[in-house]
Amino acid sequence: MKIICIGRNYADHARELGNPVPPEPVVFLKPQSAILSHKHPFYIPEWTQEVHHEVELVVKIDRLGKTISEAHAPRYYSEVSLGLDLTARDVQTRLKAKGHPWERAKAFDGSAVIGQFMALEQLGKDVQDLSFTLTNQGNVLQEGQTKDMLFSVNRLIAEVSKFMTLKVGDLLFTGTPAGVSAVHSGDRLVGSLEGHDLFAVNVK
Ligand code: ZN
Repeated sequence: MKIICIGRNYADHARELGNPVPPEPVVFLKPQSAILSHKHPFYIPEWTQEVHHEVELVVKIDRLGKTISEAHAPRYYSEVSLGLDLTARDVQTRLKAKGHPWERAKAFDGSAVIGQFMALEQLGKDVQDLSFTLTNQGNVLQEGQTKDMLFSVNRLIAEVSKFMTLKVGDLLFTGTPAGVSAVHSGDRLVGSLEGHDLFAVNVK
């Protein structure tokens, strides 16, 4: 399986990092080894001083497909969750300045936190009408609404499947809203989608 991530999919987050709003989705990958094991703490790696949390809606692909049209995209998923795209921001800033790829900053072990999945049917809402939050010990760090995405889930599936086959079990991280900041040892990060707590991670 692969983890497909979208960058700068919320205008307020693109602005907070001083990035332009993109004319097409920014796409990158995380390997399977990036997944933080269920119930394990996240240990801040010693080679970075600044790991940022990015809470994102995660869509699970449940059907094989290539060159999927936006209209047909809803047939390719039925469950969603929340995840954290943990990002070594200091390293990413250095790589971006050199025009280098981001893997050192984005694809490291433990950098993909994935919550429990829920059927959209169970949520009873459209995928572009979901609210989510990331909290630390009850304090809200990030708040997002999927209606604010620059590129909808269906559009992302259409764009990505133009050049990459989507396989059963692939995960799509759909970008983060504003409010990213550094995580610290002792944090307890909880992601909630429509009031359902889908992950909780202790930072060490
Ligand atoms: Zn992200």
